[in-house]
Amino acid sequence: MSVLLEIQRVSKRYDAPGEQKVTVLQDIDLSISEGEFVAILGPSGSGKSTLLRIIAGLVKSTSGTVSYLGRPIEGANPGVSMVFQSFALFPWLTVLQNVELGLRYKDMTAAEKRNKALQVIDMIGLDGFEGAYPRELSGGMRQRVGLGRALVMEPDILLMDEPFSALDVLTAENLRRDLLELWLDKKIPTKSIIMVTHGIEEAVYMADRAVVLSRDPATVIADIRITLPHWRERKDEAFTKLVDRI
Ligand code: ADP
Ligand code: MG
Repeated sequence: MSVLLEIQRVSKRYDAPGEQKVTVLQDIDLSISEGEFVAILGPSGSGKSTLLRIIAGLVKSTSGTVSYLGRPIEGANPGVSMVFQSFALFPWLTVLQNVELGLRYKDMTAAEKRNKALQVIDMIGLDGFEGAYPRELSGGMRQRVGLGRALVMEPDILLMDEPFSALDVLTAENLRRDLLELWLDKKIPTKSIIMVTHGIEEAVYMADRAVVLSRDPATVIADIRITLPHWRERKDEAFTKLVDRI
């Protein structure tokens, strides 16, 4: 398996003026290969969001390097795109325009961008809602737009920061299942996924590997391969029964 992302001895300390310095991440080593769906777990405040932002190049580490395809990144990481917990959509733009935003720096004609965005909108189950504004959509649909905006870039690595935590239980479950199906059927244009989550169950259901961060010191305390062959089927069955009752 080829390595897409290499995180070497990454540390992060936030230096707020007048406040105590806080070391959020300490000497994190992590290597992500093609084909992996990795869940990052850890207590609140352990630095999970910070780590994702450093991987994306949105936050600079205090020391250490993040390499994409063997090259240390400077600034934004060209190999990733991100899905945010709170969707981060532009309320004054339609679904289509929000998704097209993911293509703003691509060397494509307007028509090509539109076609690509429409394909992705269809893939994520929002066919017919191209002209809708975020306020007209449910939380689950808004997060589908967030996912579409990230996927339209066809990133090698999709980063997701607690993507389901703002959704109600059933909506979250629906979106998890749809995303997992797309991933397992190799329908989404991405080679690997890194998902930050609070939920051990969510990690076990979706990912093939779980990386656990601790607090004080903020290091990797476990890196586990998840192999529970019948788990997904059992869970799908249980979910279908639950939905039938509602
Ligand atoms: P997690 O996502 O695991 O909950 P975060 O990465 O959001 O953790 O935050 C880790 C710690 O770093 C927390 O104590 C938080 O208060 C602190 N922190 C996060 N962002 C900043 C920032 N921009 N400035 C100062 N401290 C921050
Ligand atoms: Mg967080």
